[in-house]
Amino acid sequence: MSLRLHDSLTRRLRPFEPVEPGRVRMYTCGPTVYDRAHVGNFRAFMWEDLLRRYLGFKGYEVCQVMNLTDVDDRTIAAAAARGVPLADVTDPVIEMFLEDWETLGLEEPEHRPRATRFVEGMIRLVEILSERGLTYESEGSVYFAIERSPGYGRLAGIDSAGLAAAGRAAGDEEYDKDDPRDFVLWKGGDRGADGAVAVWDSPWGPGRPGWHLECSAMAMHHLGETLDIHTGGVDNLFPHHTNEIAQSEGATGKKFSEFWLHAEHLLVEGRKMSKSLGNCFTIPELVGRGHAPSAIRYLLLSGHYRAQLNFTFDGLEAAAKAVNRLYEFRNRLREAGEAKTAASTDLGEVAARALAAFEAAMDDDLNVSEALSAVFGLVREANHLLDRAHPRAPSGAEAALATIDAFDRVFGVLAVRDRESSGGDGELVAWATARVGERERARTNRDFARADAIRAELEARGVIVEDLAEYTRLRMGGRSIQVPRPLRATR
Ligand code: AMP
Ligand code: ZN
Repeated sequence: MSLRLHDSLTRRLRPFEPVEPGRVRMYTCGPTVYDRAHVGNFRAFMWEDLLRRYLGFKGYEVCQVMNLTDVDDRTIAAAAARGVPLADVTDPVIEMFLEDWETLGLEEPEHRPRATRFVEGMIRLVEILSERGLTYESEGSVYFAIERSPGYGRLAGIDSAGLAAAGRAAGDEEYDKDDPRDFVLWKGGDRGADGAVAVWDSPWGPGRPGWHLECSAMAMHHLGETLDIHTGGVDNLFPHHTNEIAQSEGATGKKFSEFWLHAEHLLVEGRKMSKSLGNCFTIPELVGRGHAPSAIRYLLLSGHYRAQLNFTFDGLEAAAKAVNRLYEFRNRLREAGEAKTAASTDLGEVAARALAAFEAAMDDDLNVSEALSAVFGLVREANHLLDRAHPRAPSGAEAALATIDAFDRVFGVLAVRDRESSGGDGELVAWATARVGERERARTNRDFARADAIRAELEARGVIVEDLAEYTRLRMGGRSIQVPRPLRATR
């Protein structure tokens, strides 16, 4: 069976074949590390994890690069607002991001480049584009001239009339461009407060790289001139990915990526996420409300990536039940396998059918709903057979167990669920995070006696509490967890 994926550039489902047989080169736009990633960001990262794992399931060796955007307008604004060096903002946010990554059981990409470590390569890319006559310089900044880039805007399906309007939305208005549609490659550093926190020398004077340039440079550095798959959320289609294509193809004259995949956004309780609605939940906030990471993981994975996903608290409860059903089922298979009490060889056949249905569904542009229904079909049928099991009858439990394990190599929910089993580290983390939330509420209400009592309760279980400016750090065993502090009215 062969995998088909939806390519945003051609707007079609196409059979997937990597350029180099057996090896997939994949680039994933990573987080902008100005603030802790929210559950919406993790919808995108989780689906990319699913894609990566499924490619592994299909037998490909995957080389995934996920950058960390640690210099851009937002990170600079955050550092300038606090009057601190850029790294004082980005380092702790990266630490929190990696913690959440681990909590949710995502696989580590092969490379995680930080933009600030690749500025030299970015400058080189601007030089190449300049040598090819695709840029112009104005007051220390360098711009990409899109009229010299045939096919510009194709990814986003925007014609030149649409681009005139879109160009204004791209955030470069304050710069001195020949054409409002052009985008900045190198931002002259003597502008505004920027210079104080992020400046590099360049042939055009001091400045810093544009966001789009960063991804082109890091992707080509690690993966070569043509990638197999480039992913991101739908908001990246324009201008970010559109400009990545213009820069990369402008520099190499080659196709930048064979496939462009984009995930739709996550909504919370049916509404767009926004700071003003207070629904930009972070992972520790959800865990602090008592939700298991395995349930969060399951819910984020359970909708098709090209449809919006509605994240609800009812959905989280249902997700926890689904994960537990699978978990109990796997326990039952393990026991049946050991006792050799399974019903008949039918169980092996049922498992083989389920695995084939799972693969057919995932091959169809990662149709997770169908794939999950194949898995739960196996749970239902196998439970039924096991209910009727005859002691000492031949067992098919091992085959069913192998199927559940194969499924979980792709979905990764049981691996996270295992950590949460009673007494495990996961349970302590969830409990401690919830207690810190309670302590924060007590502090907000100026009930310091209660806050102290909670700290003592945490320490009694070996959890050390440290209050830092932006968050509370918990140390337990060899681990350190950062719990963000809710914004108070006075701040
Ligand atoms: P950012 O940190 O803003 O650069 O975003 C990191 C990733 O999260 C990008 O791939 C975005 O497309 C994605 N993203 C941002 N908001 C959402 C959302 N509400 N739902 C799904 N993905 C999102
Ligand atoms: Zn990017």
